[in-house]
Amino acid sequence: MSISLLSTSVEFLKGIGRNRAELLHKELGIQTCADLIHFFPYRYIDKSRYFKINELIPAGAEVQIVGRIIHLKTVEQKRGSRLVATFQDETGQMELVWFRAAKWFRENLKINEPYVVFGKATLFNKTFSMPHPEMELLKEHEASFRPGLQAVYTASEKLHRAGINNRILSVAVSQVFKQTGLQFEETLSDELIEKYSLISKNQALFNLHFPENQTILAKAQFRFKFEELFYIQLQLVSKNLLRKQKLKGFRFEKIGPLFHDFYENHLPFDLTQAQKKVLKEIRSDLGSSAQMNRLLQGDVGSGKTIVAFLTMLMAIDNGYQASLMAPTEILATQHFETISALASCLNLKVALLTGSTKKSQRKVLLEALKNGEIHILIGTHALLEDPVQFQNLSLAIIDEQHRFGVAQRAKLWYKNEFPPHVLVMTATPIPRTLAMSLYGDLDISVIDELPPGRKPIKTLHYFDSKRLILLKFMKDEIKKGRQIYVVFPLISESEALDYKNLEEGYGSLLREFPLPDFQVSMVHGKMKPEDKQYEMDRFVKGVTNILVATTVIEVGVNVPNASVMVIESAERFGLSQLHQLRGRVGRGAEQSYCILMSGHKLGAEAKTRLQTMVATNDGFEIAEVDLKLRGPGDLMGKQQSGMLNLKLADLAKDQKILMAARHEAFRLLESDPGLNQKENLPIRKAYSYFTREKGIWSYIS
Ligand code: ADP
Ligand code: MG
Repeated sequence: MSISLLSTSVEFLKGIGRNRAELLHKELGIQTCADLIHFFPYRYIDKSRYFKINELIPAGAEVQIVGRIIHLKTVEQKRGSRLVATFQDETGQMELVWFRAAKWFRENLKINEPYVVFGKATLFNKTFSMPHPEMELLKEHEASFRPGLQAVYTASEKLHRAGINNRILSVAVSQVFKQTGLQFEETLSDELIEKYSLISKNQALFNLHFPENQTILAKAQFRFKFEELFYIQLQLVSKNLLRKQKLKGFRFEKIGPLFHDFYENHLPFDLTQAQKKVLKEIRSDLGSSAQMNRLLQGDVGSGKTIVAFLTMLMAIDNGYQASLMAPTEILATQHFETISALASCLNLKVALLTGSTKKSQRKVLLEALKNGEIHILIGTHALLEDPVQFQNLSLAIIDEQHRFGVAQRAKLWYKNEFPPHVLVMTATPIPRTLAMSLYGDLDISVIDELPPGRKPIKTLHYFDSKRLILLKFMKDEIKKGRQIYVVFPLISESEALDYKNLEEGYGSLLREFPLPDFQVSMVHGKMKPEDKQYEMDRFVKGVTNILVATTVIEVGVNVPNASVMVIESAERFGLSQLHQLRGRVGRGAEQSYCILMSGHKLGAEAKTRLQTMVATNDGFEIAEVDLKLRGPGDLMGKQQSGMLNLKLADLAKDQKILMAARHEAFRLLESDPGLNQKENLPIRKAYSYFTREKGIWSYIS
């Protein structure tokens, strides 16, 4: 009987009915009783205590009071009217106030009958006043089931207007529980339940809706967080293991002469331990016959390029081609120059393909690519276009992954019938929990060490009123021969204004730093690529002292002599952007500076961002703060956040649970890949629901 009830519409539950059911479906995606009990409260309020009016304190929390309305009056205001009730208990009087639906309340509230009201009371003209309280007649209140903590379900304005409030939802949920007799099948193995002291599915489900106390609520939440993360990890880990079993890759038998020659004779510096470690990880992937799919994380300046190049040499030594794709033309060009320089001593052919490659050139290039003359192809998205055919691409490296969708990655693979090894490099440090959730099917390498001899960048936060000090500082640095970036925000919503600010900023810098003593360049997104390139080149060559820019320089420009980064309106940038921008300096031997300019008025979050930047240079630390501030969805962009629509688990807070879940997923799949063992049957059953229905909470017994 439980099964049939769970799959029936919520329409037939007490207090719901046809119209409300439709609304629940439209607003919250709730159709069946099973959906309803898997619609979890988003917070809980403690209603175990009743307050007296004379106990109220200003700025207190939400309180529950028993009393009577002794008087109702409508007060006319400029903007509509409000209804004010005088509410009284044996200790005093207060006011209840309605600004909305005043008419309805005026007609429906009962005078002199005991009510329980709940809400936040604020002190106003020596009287406490509670706007839009939750109200219940005392006799109904006493008759209803009251857990120690009360669930609060998210509800839209529309639902409220249709009378769907917490009480209605609670009653409906409790009806489902009563009629099913709480007979849900267990969805985790006994072993896991025991090992992590989890409470049962039934207990957890019930207590999420009707927790008796904080302790049991915490247990219920823990169980479901674990379960949620476990099934996601199970899917990711199983993809990872499957790929390694099934997806054959080019096997690089040997480390050949090119690699050895370069490593022994031409390496421009000693590799850091972290670079060596990562190369070993890559080497071990490439030596197996499985396709590599690896994410390489390394903060700006950690030296990913040389790792990429050495990996390319492994491919070329084995007779294959390699490619490197970058998100912008400037970055692709810069990579092309760096890699060409590194490759020059090895007699390798490196080519560049971007949107602005001339047609005639392009034709020659594609021909050479097809017949294998080109060893390394570097470029932008242009690499993904159909006419681009390699002879034998065995390695695809993608820089700055956050700009590319996963689909594009896949497209690159299938240019060949044999998928190339994929190495995705990102300079945006991703907190571990996020990396594991988003890229859990990839293997992850981290360069967690900067090359030696770098002086940590000094970061300062100046309010706009300190601009004169800033200008003096800039002049001093230029006198010492340094170059300076000045970056302005550019956001599409305020583009026109932002461009105006940029132009004005540029204008005032021209006045402060006049010719012929100084040279100031500007680059921004509206310029023609060739003009942009021209200005960038002048800066790279040291002709200009100051480069005024929007965030086009965010990615990848490498000018070791530029040692000062000034960020205008820094409060408008996100943390990861600030960190990326700061990474443009600190590349040479000189002391570098990052100066964050901001207005005086700062919101709490902006303050935290700027303080974090001043406090640390560690990209991973910054990423953790960012995750806490913004949450995973915003951090990673909407299209990637599907995986992150977690119902209960919080990637910023539940790192330990995630680690445990991932660990268990690996352990399980290694010992019982098909989930065939009897004790794992509950998992197998729930997992197949999970993968089929794309959500673990659609699983019902
Ligand atoms: P990113 O990881 O940001 O792409 P790059 O590969 O551009 O970093 O390296 C940043 C700078 O550090 C480059 O100038 C590079 O030549 C230099 N570099 C890289 N590895 C080392 C090392 N092990 N020792 C010294 N300098 C290094
Ligand atoms: Mg780089």
